[in-house]
Amino acid sequence: MRIAIGSFVQESQFFSPVKGSWQHFGPEQIARGQAMLDAAAGTGSEIAGAMDTAARHAVRLVPLLRAMSSASSAPIVREVYESIRDELLARLSDAMAEPVDGVLMVMHGAMSAEGYDDATGDVLQRVRQIVGPRVPLVATLDLHANITRLMCRVADGLVGYLTFPHVDMYETGARGMRLLIDAVLGRAKPVTVMAKLPMIVPAENAQTTHGVIHDLLQAARAHLRTPGMLDISIFPMQPWMDVPEAGCAVVVVADESQRGRAEAIAAQLADAWWRRKEEHRVELAPTEQTIAEALASERKPWVLADSADAPSSGAPGDSTVTLQALLDARPAKDCYTNIVDAPAVAAMIAAGVGHEVTMSLGARSGTTLYRPLTVSGRVRLISDGAFVHKGEGFHGATMHRGRTVVLQAGCVHIVVMERACIQWDPELYRSVGLEPKDAQIVIVKSPAGFRAAYSPFAAEIRVLDAPGVCTPNLTTLPYARIPRPMWPFDPLQDWRADGA
Ligand SMILES: [Zn+2]
Repeated sequence: MRIAIGSFVQESQFFSPVKGSWQHFGPEQIARGQAMLDAAAGTGSEIAGAMDTAARHAVRLVPLLRAMSSASSAPIVREVYESIRDELLARLSDAMAEPVDGVLMVMHGAMSAEGYDDATGDVLQRVRQIVGPRVPLVATLDLHANITRLMCRVADGLVGYLTFPHVDMYETGARGMRLLIDAVLGRAKPVTVMAKLPMIVPAENAQTTHGVIHDLLQAARAHLRTPGMLDISIFPMQPWMDVPEAGCAVVVVADESQRGRAEAIAAQLADAWWRRKEEHRVELAPTEQTIAEALASERKPWVLADSADAPSSGAPGDSTVTLQALLDARPAKDCYTNIVDAPAVAAMIAAGVGHEVTMSLGARSGTTLYRPLTVSGRVRLISDGAFVHKGEGFHGATMHRGRTVVLQAGCVHIVVMERACIQWDPELYRSVGLEPKDAQIVIVKSPAGFRAAYSPFAAEIRVLDAPGVCTPNLTTLPYARIPRPMWPFDPLQDWRADGA
């Protein structure tokens, strides 16, 4: 059996001032052919899970191309998107010289580009056109995907992460590959159905460890015992996609013979979700007051999430709001925070280790939600910025955040980096000599993904009320294209109100 595998991963944040560009798809982010498999081997990635499953079933993998954005951003610039897409598709066309039996596409599902609201659907549709209607096509997706009718129609199966914080990328890749192999062998003829809800929810309360999404996944597991049900995913779409087909979704993959039953199960799960939607509202902690409380505490560390500036959600990571609050508090205990500012990094490297500097920090992305800050401190450390994820999510993956400098201003240790990166792993700090367990306050710019690695040692975790493009206060954001009515913007009795 010969299965082609490709990957194109980006998460679009429509309110970010930073467009997806080659800056996000540098040489480290793109791997071609065998290099794609070599890079994934032994990691916790979807590709690794798919590879190991393929090996157990004597599947010959045909690696196409893997492109993974270094951070979320606004939709990708058209030329960049089309260039990556077309190279991936050309490699698939070349691979078809000898027919492939199936295709696995590792995607995010909330990727947009200029002119392509549903870039995921666009890629899958073009893959379908190349391989024809009969070759099984399965895509793996992030739990924060925006599922579209196009995606359901062109793919035989859509398989999403079942965890948030995301710790099951490997298992998701394995699930996708198993489903695909079953389809190739004719054990099942998968179809994908969805129930789409007119609802967008903040990421903070969409965790799978407890609460409504957890309970829905439990119910989904029970439904999988129904004959013909092959896979069920729950997708609380990341809420910053301002697109006409936005909304949360329940997806059921079932054998073609059970389509009606699959649709009923999707609707049943959507009903249960709709009844509990109020549980997605987020309680935020006032920033200054929470910092004061943390500094007065006997216990440490307090892990304070500035989710509004989370690069994993598509924020630029250059907010000065929490930094300002920390400096204003004049702490006598160590506090760690971080910020993106490439020119500041260059200036501090020029100054050199051990030197005192005074400089402007942050707010380079051009947002008007916060202003640059003048900070004086000492350059403590200069690093190339690369670090390896040691926690479960992205385990083994190397993060590249450009050159990185630790600037110490009193007891405030500021990790200044050239590029934004995902902040789930304490290695963000440990890799530059800062142990989060030793700090009184650790700022993480992440809505919930950080909890997997930080919860085991955090004394307290709070989500701060700070301005930023990824604020969980969704009704404050300038949505223009999402369908209306939509919860939480409009009063809505039934999720089927639009007749869907
Ligand atoms: Zn996600």
